[in-house]
Amino acid sequence: APKPSADEKSKLPLRPPIVTIMGHVDHGKTTLLDYIRKSSVAEKEHGGITQHIGAFSVKAPKSGKQITFLDTPGHAAFLKMRERGATVTDIVILVVAGDDSVMPQTKEAIKHVHAAGVELVVAINKCDKESVTEETIQKVYSDLGANEVYVEDYGGDIACVQVSGKSGLGVDTLEETLVAISEVLDLRSSPTAKVEGIVLESQVKKGVGATATVLVHNGTLKPGQVICAGTVFCKVKAMKDSSNKVIKEAGPGTPVEVTGWKELPASGDQVLQAESEQQAKQVAENRQKRAQLMQQMDDIK
Ligand code: GDP
Repeated sequence: APKPSADEKSKLPLRPPIVTIMGHVDHGKTTLLDYIRKSSVAEKEHGGITQHIGAFSVKAPKSGKQITFLDTPGHAAFLKMRERGATVTDIVILVVAGDDSVMPQTKEAIKHVHAAGVELVVAINKCDKESVTEETIQKVYSDLGANEVYVEDYGGDIACVQVSGKSGLGVDTLEETLVAISEVLDLRSSPTAKVEGIVLESQVKKGVGATATVLVHNGTLKPGQVICAGTVFCKVKAMKDSSNKVIKEAGPGTPVEVTGWKELPASGDQVLQAESEQQAKQVAENRQKRAQLMQQMDDIK
């Protein structure tokens, strides 16, 4: 399908930003993500049972705007998807412990962010600790500057928020900063277009069978639709959100766990809606043949 023109695009509804957390080991990525997930409105509404499905959505505390966080830990998922040519993330939160500053994996994350051209916000973490002082924070700024990340308080334009994933300090501000950045990015997509998305995770679940978390980019995913992902396809049987609630529709920016797969798709696989099961089967077969052919060519080399 032709891409909408700029004018057509400006009429489409806004979609939530998709956010990934990166940073050095032990700087507090997991703790921060857990805090955000647990404080989420959706979770409170549905009794607090969360499932790990590779992503979750929250409503920012003041604006009430939705933000989608990828929960697939660390660089691996990010890299895998980039290898497959998919830029899934709109904004990266770079977590830097305020008492440890820039470390090797911080630098690695900065490289990925620069290469992918995604937006960056710095979260200086562990600000509840006494070891984090004005002085150590200044050191974080200058260490980041040495890696070509210039934050607002250091003469640059990259947003930087002081937080604690442990106490929750500054997390509201971080979420509203994400909303503000996404407004500038003006992220829009069509809820009525053909469904497009990406597989974040997949697994076989006891009593349920093959399941996959699909992050919808375009269109609205519904039970009964047929989708292709890589060399497999699925007639969508049921969908659940990250708070384990059955949902009937998943619009752009929404991650959902989908059942109905014949076989497991791979994470990073692109999801496209098919006209019918027959067409999906054909696409899957063609892709399988192509994959085999590529394998044979590799073997000859
Ligand atoms: P990750 O490897 O980046 O995911 O880091 P974790 O979230 O596992 O955190 C590493 C350690 O730092 C754990 O012992 C956490 O309890 C601790 N930690 C993480 N965030 C904070 C914070 O904001 N304040 C304090 N005091 N400790 C934290």
